[in-house]
Amino acid sequence: MNSYQETMYLLKKYHLTANKKLGQNFLIDDEAIAGIVTAAQITKEDLVIEIGPGLGTLTQYLLEKAKKVLAIELDTRMISVLQDRFQLYSNFTLIEQDVLQVNLQKVIEQEHCSSVKIVANLPYYITTPIVMKLLEEKLPVTSITIMVQKEVAQRLTAKTGTRLAGSITYAVDYYSEAKTVLTVPSKSFIPEPKVDSQVIQLEIRKSPCVKVKDEKLFFEIIQLAFMQRRKTFLNAVSQKMEKQAMQKILQNLHIPENIRGENLTIEQFAEIANQTFEKNIASK
Ligand code: SAM
Repeated sequence: MNSYQETMYLLKKYHLTANKKLGQNFLIDDEAIAGIVTAAQITKEDLVIEIGPGLGTLTQYLLEKAKKVLAIELDTRMISVLQDRFQLYSNFTLIEQDVLQVNLQKVIEQEHCSSVKIVANLPYYITTPIVMKLLEEKLPVTSITIMVQKEVAQRLTAKTGTRLAGSITYAVDYYSEAKTVLTVPSKSFIPEPKVDSQVIQLEIRKSPCVKVKDEKLFFEIIQLAFMQRRKTFLNAVSQKMEKQAMQKILQNLHIPENIRGENLTIEQFAEIANQTFEKNIASK
């Protein structure tokens, strides 16, 4: 059975329809599934954490490759399907919970696996909070291979300092090296989403790509710059920080005063943040 036939069979057998509110677009493209699994480079050493396994289409392949698969699913209806489907697999564990509420650090610790990878066809309505959680919690994972909306993929993998970048691009770049793996057309899913998708991979860096003295401040300045991205960087950050002091910092760093946040590279944001920290510039 191919993944299309299997999906139709399972939906019928369990009398299920996709819940749009939960971002349920089931992958029915065998080539795309193979592409994700190959890119993730899963070995028998790996603990794979899958977010949103749904009917288990991707899970099936992960189970064959990994030492263990830990799947996190919110929809109780899917839980029944997954429990039935994978009851004979001793390397399968299911967590029935909202992934945003799961203490991943603790879950990983309990598994005692030397190598951890995250693989998922993400529910698109919460892509950003999931990606931020995975990065900010500094989990001991080597890579994150995820399917997301194409536009989001472009933002996540953009070069900092270019128009495609958003504040999340800087977080991705800070913690990982991001690349696009493959593009997946909307017809590869049931039901078809309105937009195409892309699989991207974030390879987690051993240490961040820039040295910052205060991470919280660094990300706060980036957030401020992108909250009003059409304004100049100086005007945007002056909503919260002393304008003259920030003007001085830009001069010190030979950065034009009228630059917009989107034109600043991650290295420049790091320098600005470090000088802001050193000069102890107060937030308003
Ligand atoms: N992995 C399946 C596939 O590729 O066909 C399904 C992917 S579907 C795009 C997203 C899955 O995430 C759904 O099964 C949905 O129920 C689940 N989901 C949605 N919100 C979730 C949440 N907050 N926590 C965990 N799973 C969630």
